[in-house]
Amino acid sequence: MKLSARAQRLQPSATLTITAKAKSLKAQGVDVIGFGAGEPDFDSPDHVKEEAIRAINDGMTKYTGVGGIDELKDAILHRLKEDHGLEYEKSEIIASVGAKHTLYNVMQVLFDSGDEVIVPAPYWVSYPEQIKLAEATPIILETSEDDGFKITPDSLKKHINSNTKALILNYPSNPTGATYNEDELRAIVDVAMDAGLTIISDEIYEKIIYGGIKHIPVAALGEDVKKATILVNGVSKTYSMTGWRIGYAAGDKDVISAMSKLQGQSTSNPTSISQWAAIAAFTGDHGVIDDRTKEFEQRKNYIVEKLNDIPQITCFDPQGAFYVFPNVSGYYGKEFEGKIIKDSLDFTEFILVEAKVAVVPGVAFGSDDHVRISYATSMDDIVKGMDRITEALKKLP
Ligand SMILES: *Cc1c(COP(=O)(O)O)cnc(C)c1O
Repeated sequence: MKLSARAQRLQPSATLTITAKAKSLKAQGVDVIGFGAGEPDFDSPDHVKEEAIRAINDGMTKYTGVGGIDELKDAILHRLKEDHGLEYEKSEIIASVGAKHTLYNVMQVLFDSGDEVIVPAPYWVSYPEQIKLAEATPIILETSEDDGFKITPDSLKKHINSNTKALILNYPSNPTGATYNEDELRAIVDVAMDAGLTIISDEIYEKIIYGGIKHIPVAALGEDVKKATILVNGVSKTYSMTGWRIGYAAGDKDVISAMSKLQGQSTSNPTSISQWAAIAAFTGDHGVIDDRTKEFEQRKNYIVEKLNDIPQITCFDPQGAFYVFPNVSGYYGKEFEGKIIKDSLDFTEFILVEAKVAVVPGVAFGSDDHVRISYATSMDDIVKGMDRITEALKKLP
């Protein structure tokens, strides 16, 4: 059967390819350590699970309003107000089937063919594909380690033209862990506002942030900025709730209403039971979240130190999320058993075969000099995995 041009243009997820390879090695009985995970290793909190069970027992198992129940919107409004002093109306909030789905819908209702959308690299794998699915063109804005993997007002200006419709921001970033402080954000946002851009701000890692830094949403920078911004967030990363599939957007009510129409013709509401679970997450005790972030920070500190001890690796110290993004290009050009390691895919393959550790090639995130290592796994595995990587790389003098 002939597939649509749209389907043929889609890129398979490189993160899933390496996961599949690691799985097949595991199935052969090889003891592989997985540093590929894009989700917290922690379980969903107990009060969240209990609320979901209550919702089932109380018959909360029917269709709900397309964009989520009022109680969920209230819980989202409560968090935005409490955490950031941000005030929205219910008509400016929509819940969907995970933040990935939220982002997909935002792009579908905002972009047309001919529109250009600026995506800072390294980027989360789905942005360019979702932009292309909306017939628009992703414009990749490279950042460097020297700039802390951040865009600057000048670099942004250079990528804007009359076709530029939007800027995607994601901080703390997957995969780099970089985040912006208020001054940096203001400088970037000024440029975006001058050019009349919409800002799509993916802040799903806002609570997983280190060193006492306080996350500042773009939308909190002023009423005009708030009007131009679609804030995207969800429960997956903060509350270890990836499987429940609840994300949300806050922003202009016409955009939200268009997203609701789209959702009404595709998924309808996100799962009713998950909505109740998400309410429990948003309104429940956040102590457990703080404890988990502290644990992530300890793992991060260990792994960054170990990586920087390896002669040919430099590793940027992330301020958030649960990934490190070391530069491994010092090993490119080296030969092992007749094969030259040329790029992040070859490096990843070497580490998988020689160290029995699965990491993700940076090329998937738009940077071939790097690999992504997730530390959303136990400290025992981190220690073991880092020892194995260190040993394996000694074979590449
Ligand atoms: C995980 C992730 C998402 C999507 O999360 P959902 O599980 O769909 O809510 C969105 N953006 C980034 C940067 C992520 O890492």
